[in-house]
Order: sequence, then structure tokens, then C-alpha cells
Amino acid sequence: MKTFRKELWFNVQSRRAFINITPDVQHCIDESGIQEGLVLVNAMHITASVFINDDESGLHHDYDKWLEKLAPHEPVSGYRHNVGEDNADAHMKRQIMGRESVIAITEGKLDFGTWERIFYGEFDGRRKKRVLVKIIGE
Ligand code: ZN
Repeated sequence: MKTFRKELWFNVQSRRAFINITPDVQHCIDESGIQEGLVLVNAMHITASVFINDDESGLHHDYDKWLEKLAPHEPVSGYRHNVGEDNADAHMKRQIMGRESVIAITEGKLDFGTWERIFYGEFDGRRKKRVLVKIIGE
């Protein structure tokens, strides 16, 4: 069995964003040379997510509105998390959108349904953050 590990780095200039990282993950698979196996992709921060869904800008807008309804950023004073910090909402948004995704690799490719794509969900950007890609297989 082969293993492969790589970190993808991000420095999102806005507080929140959704970034399609499917090509980056496929590039890792290509680099690993693994044809059959599994790839784990996880955010290494507790204010960011990795999830799978549709690459459609309307949907991403809807997600942002929905998450803001569930855990609004403002007023920051409404949260008790580390008084003085302003990212309690980001922790909650990450919890809902999830930490990681695991995808099957078949014949060297992500074995996806038609519309499935992998996203990095940033909820507290404007600093360097990373995503772990771990691949096992042969
Ligand atoms: Zn925090």
C-alpha cells in the first residue's frame, strides 16, 4: 500500500468564501500515482470546512445566507467565545459544514457523482490556513 500527504494553503482575503479545490485534490492523486484507494481531505482549522456539493454560485450564496441565519457574525457581543475574539460564528459554521470529506479513487480519478465537487469553506479568513490531503491505496 502506498501513502501520500500534502498540505494545500489558502489566504482568503474575505472573512467568508467557498473555493472549489477539486482540481487541487485531483492533482495530488496524480502526483501520488495511486490508482485505487481513498483520499481524505480535511480542514486543519476549527473555523474552516471541507465539504462536497454543487459548484453553483446561487447555491453558495444560499449557503452563506443560511449559515448567517443560523450563526450570524454580528453582533459579536452576542457570543461568549473567548471574549474579545470575533469568530464564534465561524466555529459554528464549520461545525455545520463539516471538517472533512473522504472520496473513493478509481482508475486514478475522483469517483464522483455527476455534480459532486470538493470545496474549502472559509469562515474566518484574511490569514494563512491549510487543508490536509491524505491518500492511501495502490
Ligand atoms: Zn475562536
